[in-house]
Amino acid sequence: MQTIRISNIDVDVSFKDIKNVHLSVHPPNGRVTVSAPRHIDLDTVKVYAATKLAWIKKERNKILNQDRQGRKNFVTRESHYLFGKRYLLKVTIASRPKVILHHSRIELQVPATYNSAQKEAMLYRFYRKELRTKLNKLIPEYAAKMGLGTPGFGIKKMKTKWGSCSIERRHLWFNIELAKKPDQCIEYIIVHEMAHLLERNHNKNFTSIVSRFFPNWQVQKKILNELPLYHA
Ligand SMILES: [Zn+2]
Repeated sequence: MQTIRISNIDVDVSFKDIKNVHLSVHPPNGRVTVSAPRHIDLDTVKVYAATKLAWIKKERNKILNQDRQGRKNFVTRESHYLFGKRYLLKVTIASRPKVILHHSRIELQVPATYNSAQKEAMLYRFYRKELRTKLNKLIPEYAAKMGLGTPGFGIKKMKTKWGSCSIERRHLWFNIELAKKPDQCIEYIIVHEMAHLLERNHNKNFTSIVSRFFPNWQVQKKILNELPLYHA
């Protein structure tokens, strides 16, 4: 797979044994892909995608608006996810903010004055801590398997990607939304990003590296592309 850039939008291009060009915009974060017949070159794909720019933008807006409608209010009995498991939120009043993980509930203890944005920020601090603990365990495990030194990493909000890799700095970034996803999905993103330390491009060699260390990757990739960022 190769990536081209059209007016600030990344477009993932793959060449296949097909007759026509297929352009798609995927939920949850508006990823754009083009499948093209092998006899077409990348410049032709670029020109084609550029002529479809208005359509791409319209589709992306639709998807990102759906996402916004799925936004949470951070009230009792609302569903929230941690590592692929659904929890019901329980909001209780307390003098100090605190998040407690129960068997099937996430309890937010909040001062009575807290609004939903403050509750969201609290939950995301909790997600960040939980995800960091998981990554601290998994990254050295996979680094050892892949014959790599353990790279540095950070967690941040990312709009269109689950992870990224700065090859020169040997530093990985992970989307905080991964805290909501099943462990297997997180492991796939770790392997994908670390594979870039061995191969910069999304080429055949890259795919074979990912397949060697995470054979199930296509399934996890599909789950990540289909699961909504915010569960309704
Ligand atoms: Zn990549």
